[in-house]
Amino acid sequence: SPARAPVVRFAPSPTGYLHIGGARTALFNWLYAKAKGGTFLLRIEDTDRERNNPAAVAAILDGLRWLELDWDGEPVSQFSQADRHREVAEALLAQGAAYRCYLTPEELDQMRKAAEAEKRPFTVQSPWRDRDPADAPEGQPFAVRLKAPREGETVIEDRVQGRVVFQNKELDDLIILRSDGNPTYNLAVVVDDHDMGVTHVIRGVDHLTNAARQTQIYRGMGWDVPVWAHVPLIHGSDGAKLSKRHGAQGVEEYRAMGYLPAALRNYLVRLGWSHGDDEIMSTEDLVRWFDIDDTNKSPARFDFKKLDDLNGHY
Ligand code: GLU
Repeated sequence: SPARAPVVRFAPSPTGYLHIGGARTALFNWLYAKAKGGTFLLRIEDTDRERNNPAAVAAILDGLRWLELDWDGEPVSQFSQADRHREVAEALLAQGAAYRCYLTPEELDQMRKAAEAEKRPFTVQSPWRDRDPADAPEGQPFAVRLKAPREGETVIEDRVQGRVVFQNKELDDLIILRSDGNPTYNLAVVVDDHDMGVTHVIRGVDHLTNAARQTQIYRGMGWDVPVWAHVPLIHGSDGAKLSKRHGAQGVEEYRAMGYLPAALRNYLVRLGWSHGDDEIMSTEDLVRWFDIDDTNKSPARFDFKKLDDLNGHY
């Protein structure tokens, strides 16, 4: 059957500004959509009510607009989908792919201490997985956990990282609904990506373990697992993860320093991706040449001098 046009998304958490690493993730998604005749969606992961405010969302949208990374349709608010997330958790419960776990904070604490004492990694093995729900203590709060496979492997075939194998015994039964009834991050991402028709998830490699957990949720629902592409992190010139001490973190700061959007785009795409020895590439060139498969696995190093050189060309 002919390949479906891809649907990708950028899913930032509203932290108050568009981080340079987030901008690169957005750019990779945007380029992939443009290169393949696909759709680029935007989802604001605003479930953290304390951090969420309209100014933080506006800062991200402004940064994307300045970089000319236009998205299709309206941005989706993750928080606005909370009822739908709960509905999916209920569906998983109804079909026996999830269970109510009544472990108390004290019991969890004891399990953690026992693991520490025995010097083994701490994974929650909830007795409620196999217990009769009729034995549930009356009125006691519960979390909903995914009944994840205990044996075998969860394999991620990643377009950037290659084949990544997770041993199921090292993954806990993931909490999908907290005891206050709120969906957890991994459940929300899976439900939203499914509902938005996302076919390719392109994001930072710091989400690789989440991909294994999310795969288990997809399987629980019998949904198609998207294509994964986890791009390397950005490091500073000293090889350490990019942080404040390396310099500007926000796209807005680069804008204020006088960098041009085309230069920053050209620079950002080359953090992890390249096309032969080409340095200066027009957006048309990028769209023509970009493919996620050509992304490097190893961390990209941020080089201010290179950015200055590029900026001089625009
Ligand atoms: N909201 C997440 C972040 O800002 C991204 C989640 C995802 O792309 O799946 O890191």
